[in-house]
Amino acid sequence: MTKTAFLTKEKAEEIAASFPTPFHVYDEAGIRKNAQAVRDAFAWNKGFREYFAVKANANPFLINIMREYGCGTDCSSLTELMLSDAMGIRGEEIMFSSNDTPPEEYAYADKLGAIINLDDITHIEVLEKTLGHIPETISCRYNPGGVYEISNGIMDNPGDAKYGMTKEQIISAYRTLKEKGAKHFGIHAFLVSNTVTNDYYPTLAKTLFELVVEIQKETGCEFTFINLSGGVGIPYRPEDSANDIHAIGEGVRKVYEEVLVPAGMGEVAIYTEMGRFMMAPYGGLVTRAIHEKHTYKEYVGVDACAVDLMRPAMYGAYHHITVLGKENAPCDHVYDVTGSLCENNDKFAIDRKLPKIQKGDLLFIHDTGGHGYSMGYNYNGRLKSAEVLLKEDGSFALIRRGETPKDYFATFDCFDIYKDLIKEA
Ligand SMILES: *Cc1c(COP(=O)(O)O)cnc(C)c1O
Repeated sequence: MTKTAFLTKEKAEEIAASFPTPFHVYDEAGIRKNAQAVRDAFAWNKGFREYFAVKANANPFLINIMREYGCGTDCSSLTELMLSDAMGIRGEEIMFSSNDTPPEEYAYADKLGAIINLDDITHIEVLEKTLGHIPETISCRYNPGGVYEISNGIMDNPGDAKYGMTKEQIISAYRTLKEKGAKHFGIHAFLVSNTVTNDYYPTLAKTLFELVVEIQKETGCEFTFINLSGGVGIPYRPEDSANDIHAIGEGVRKVYEEVLVPAGMGEVAIYTEMGRFMMAPYGGLVTRAIHEKHTYKEYVGVDACAVDLMRPAMYGAYHHITVLGKENAPCDHVYDVTGSLCENNDKFAIDRKLPKIQKGDLLFIHDTGGHGYSMGYNYNGRLKSAEVLLKEDGSFALIRRGETPKDYFATFDCFDIYKDLIKEA
């Protein structure tokens, strides 16, 4: 398999003439096609909704595109809730799946009418104290513990994860919530991240469906939705095969008919909270080679750094790189592609086979649409890049400007030094 960039060198240079590199660029056509495919894959379920995980990409222009396909938002913080509210996303179109939640954020989520998803049993008391009531619709997050394995051996370690409640706790939580006035219940679990198998959602669905049938019997709680959360992955490496969302939707439907329908629960809505799958492949980081260095290794220095894309530095994650205009050139050079941070992990690629790179070449770093810009930070005082939308008709628009020193220094604006800091900004 080869991975191709969704824009040409000519288009990238055209954008760079208006908005200097580095910038993240997003592919509107790709976002739309995928959002439609997700909608089709779960069309069999009347109440289906994808709540886009805002933490993956908090750009309102991009979220608005997904809203046209019925998506709501999955929020985990005050500012993500504020963004949803400002965009006109209302009530149960917002899922509040947070953990270690500050009480005032529960209050704000409740004011918006968002569905609150409780990460821990002790939060029932916090919620009641903060709101003065328990919302009629409420969800709890489940953690089965141990190791969670799916058919192709991909697994994760929920037993080591900070999220969710044990089985005993979650049953007790539903009982308590019901006593305190909750009427409609949901369940949520996120057990494995970035899965590249069509079996993750169906396997998780079976776990949750069976549990919900048991809990409904035991507690009399009426379940109205089951939230499969995120975790559907994308092929970062050329040799990975992509998930087939139609096969995934079909897999979930089969389990639904095997487990929920016979239990008289054929009205339950399926929710998802995908972030990566909705956006990651439809974003790329465009950066220019500005230096080459020959020491014990061959280095290409680019004008982006881990501030723009943290996953390689943070997780050693692979992001494919295309040297624009050299798509068909042989990959007969081996480079470390680095940013400028004073941190040796600031490398977009290590020992990567690439075509010969010249200063001035544009590099397209793939799959930055999810957990890319949004994960950025400001180490070394580096400023965050702009975001550009490549539209379906080939035109482009700025959808977030790059940071300026003024933004970086803004939190000093109540101090005398601010005037001097921004003198030249
Ligand atoms: C991160 C996260 C998601 C999205 O995960 P992806 O891997 O991007 O699909 C969804 N829900 C919750 C609660 C999360 O923390």
